[in-house]
Parts: sequence; C-alpha cells; structure tokens
Amino acid sequence: MQTKFIFVTGGVMSGLGKGVTTSSIAKLLQLADQKVSCIKIDPYLNYDAGTMNPVAHGEVFVTDDGGECDMDIGNYERFLNQNIPKTHNITTAQVYSSVIEAERKGEYLGACVQIIPHVTDEIKNRIRGIAEDEKLDFLIVECGGTVGDIESLPFLEALRQMRVEEGPENVLFVHVTLAPSLDVVGEQKTKPTQHSAQELRRIGIQPDFLAVRCTLPLEEKTKKKIALFTNVTVNDVLSCHDVKSIFQVPQILYDQGILDSIFKKFGIVGMVNASANWDKWNKIAESMINHEDQKVRIAMVGKYVTLPDSYVSVNHALKHAGAKLGKSVKIDWIDSETITDYEIFSKYDGILVPGGFGTRGSEGIIKTANYAREKNIPYLGICFGFQLAAIAFGRNVLNLEDANSTEIKEDAKNPVVDLLPEQKELSDMGGTLRLGANEVFIKQNTIAHKIYKTDTISKRHRHRYEINQKYISEFERNGMIFPADSDNGKRMEMLEIPSHKFYLGVQFHPEFNSRPGFPEEAFEAFVKAASEK
Ligand code: GLN
Repeated sequence: MQTKFIFVTGGVMSGLGKGVTTSSIAKLLQLADQKVSCIKIDPYLNYDAGTMNPVAHGEVFVTDDGGECDMDIGNYERFLNQNIPKTHNITTAQVYSSVIEAERKGEYLGACVQIIPHVTDEIKNRIRGIAEDEKLDFLIVECGGTVGDIESLPFLEALRQMRVEEGPENVLFVHVTLAPSLDVVGEQKTKPTQHSAQELRRIGIQPDFLAVRCTLPLEEKTKKKIALFTNVTVNDVLSCHDVKSIFQVPQILYDQGILDSIFKKFGIVGMVNASANWDKWNKIAESMINHEDQKVRIAMVGKYVTLPDSYVSVNHALKHAGAKLGKSVKIDWIDSETITDYEIFSKYDGILVPGGFGTRGSEGIIKTANYAREKNIPYLGICFGFQLAAIAFGRNVLNLEDANSTEIKEDAKNPVVDLLPEQKELSDMGGTLRLGANEVFIKQNTIAHKIYKTDTISKRHRHRYEINQKYISEFERNGMIFPADSDNGKRMEMLEIPSHKFYLGVQFHPEFNSRPGFPEEAFEAFVKAASEK
C-alpha cells in the first residue's frame, strides 16, 4: 500500500492543541494495527529549537539521534510509544539551507530559484522521503503556526500540491480550530472557525475534517452550522472538548467516528480489529486520571517556571510514575531566583531540579539541593540539577571554597563542574552540545543499579559541562557516590547519597524516555520514595 498522508493545520490562534490532535489521530491508526509516524513542521527561521528560550517556546525535546526538537515530537513519542528521528521536525531554515546549498552547487541548471517550485519541492521531498524510508502506512504531518501566517505559506502550498500529486484518495486535511463560549453556559460561537476555514480555502485547501476545540462538547446545532459554512460533512466536524487527561482524546475522536471516516475516505475496506490493542491502551489512559485521594506533592525548582511547558516532559514523566504507583502527583513550580525562605520546602514530599542553563537562579538551586540533603527530603536532580547538587555538596560538606561550575563562574577556585574538554574550541552555539543517546554504565551494588536493574542503559543528553574528575575521590570518601559513567569512565553520569532517603542526580535527561504506562525508572523510584512517609 502506498503511504496515506494526513495533514493537520491550525486555525484561529496558536495553543489549541494541534500536537495532541495529531498524536491522537496517529494513535487511533496505530491501535488499528497501522504503521504510523508523525512529522512536525515549524515554519520559524531557527534551524532547530535548540537555541530558543523554553519560556517563550516550550521545552526543547531531545531525540535519540540528538535532535533538539519542538516539544510536539515529545507528544508523538509519548502517544505512540515509539522513538521519532530528528528528520521528523522540519523547519524553514533546514529547507532553505538545502535549497541554497543545491543552488551553490549548480544543481538547478541555470534556473531562477524560487519558492514555487524549488522550496516546495524540497518540502515535499522531505515528507515523501520519510514515508518511503520508513515504509509507513500513514504519515501525519502537523504544520505549525496558524493559517494566514506569512511564514507557513510555503509549507501549506507544498501540502496543497501533494494532494493533487498523490491524488485525493491518498491525502486528507484536518483543520484544528476553536469554538469559544463567552461564559460557561454561553452559546458556542462558530465565526472564528468559519473564517479560518475560509482562509484555508483561499489558499486552495478544503479541509476534510474540522477538529474544534471547545470547553464543553460541541452541540449538534453548532456542528451543523459549522458544517454548512465550511463545506465539511457534519459527521466530520469533531468536538475536541476539554478532558482531564490528553490521553482521553483518542477515545473521544474515535467515539465520533473519525477512524471509520478516515478509512472510508481513503477507500480502505475491512477495518482491522484491534480490540486487544484497545484494552492495553485504555488501561494506560485510565491510569492517568484517577488517584485524586493519593497525592504526592513535588516542588519543581528552576528559573523557567513561568511556563509549565518549559519542562513538559518532566511533568509528564512525574505523572507517568504517579499513575503506575496509584498516586496523583501535584507539581508546584518554584522560581529559584525568588526563594527567600527554604522552609517552604518542608511541606513537599520531594524536590525536583530539572535542566537549565546560565547563572540566573543558580544560587537558589544550590541552596535548595543543600536543603533537600540536610532535611532528608527526596531529591531528583536532572542535568543542571545534578551538577548543582554536586556543587552544593562540595560547598557544604567538603567546605570547598568557591565551589562552582565554570558555566556560572568562569574563574571559580574550585571548578567542581567544568566544560567538556571537546567543547573548549567550539564557537557556535547551535547544535553543539553533547546531544542524544549515549550508553551509561552503572556499577553494581549501588542505588542506581537497584533502580535500573541493569549494567547498561541508553539515555539522552544535552549538556556542555560535566563533573570535574579531580574531585571525585574526595566526594566519594565523604558520602556522595558517582555510581555511573560513560565514554570509558571519562564522564560521570549519576550521583547518589546512600545514607539519604533518596538523593539522586543524573547528567542525562530521563524525562525524554518516559512513556505513559512505562514510566522512566529514576522517576518511578523518586515518586515512590516521595510517597513513602
Ligand atoms: N547548563 C548545563 C550544561 O550545559 C546543564 C544543561 C542542562 O541542564 N540541560 O552542562
């Protein structure tokens, strides 16, 4: 079978949950035993998400192959429980770089190089290349931005061309819009959806489905009105109302007949019976919503706390762990720059410090890590949270004067954390951190080994600094152990304090490997320790 394409576009405004809609449609097809994957198009001019501020754009999601991707790639991985390669996050910069490079090589044979066809061809080649290489039954492509944006036009144009070239029986469009109600019981308004569908038609795209975000289920009369004005059959106007957990979205779309309709439009007969898949998935989706009476309170401390999306994978990983343990994890985000009284942490069951960069807010984190150690509060430090926990120990237990990371203080007297040697000559900031999956070796008879129950794990990385080997024996003599390393012992990957209730730091990013139903081990151990009184 040739790959069928589903293109997801966005209308009205950003932040409606296109990523969840895309992932949910992909999940339904996967549950029907189809081979699926997703692509995220980001029309911005950055080459990748790596250099963007997480508070403005959300988390940078790191893939196994070292991509610094849009956080929607994380949604796809979590919904599908499958790794997504970095080529699945296409940006304007990547497309234009290839076109310009080809032009310089003289590959266009004297032609005037233009957006149509050269840029649109490059976009189509990338999408088709993935479909072919991975032999997919279905490829769901989410185009970032909102229809009407200047930046996304070349991408939408490429998708429009693909419908003509692949044939309408192989391409469907889903448009995600909003039906706002002005108050809780108010009428659901259809005009933004009407206009947005019009805008899409103006550039030659007729949506096949409308996924309409709303607080309460879309009323029948609203569906009918939308259908009438947008040229979409009423059955294909889908209510995407608020639900407790995003993992319920596949079910609500399924209940409205989306899967039958997709198969019918693609001319696929005899839908696959996938009830066993559904049983497994329903158990996982259900486990994500209950347990309200069993709360575990976690303080998440960092400087990117104004936007919870900055740490979206960490939030998810905590919830996955809670769901498996029958607990509901409540997360409070605490700005490390503004803490004055560390006693606020006494009311928490656990403290988590996620990744981060730069000086701002770092002193607050160091003091937090020290407080957790002194008060025997379960602590999980990820990447920056790992490095700063070592600094806190250096300062407060080993009395190392001016212990710091050279990222924070270049001339620190005791550089407990220092630049990776291979980074010393680098000048470019984009894509140059130590990125992606690396093998980590865990020593036996350690807490880390008890957590992972194996000698070798593969974990994703994103850092420029690491523990300075010079200090290791002094740390270990005084109770902070480094139970795991990588690159033939060159880098420390984990720290633990065996005498503590739970004090773990990891140089890698365990959050990117956590999936609903399959929480990452360090998170599970942390939440378990936090829930033990
Ligand atoms: N800033 C630190 C480093 O570059 C930690 C990075 C992170 O937390 N992702 O090593």
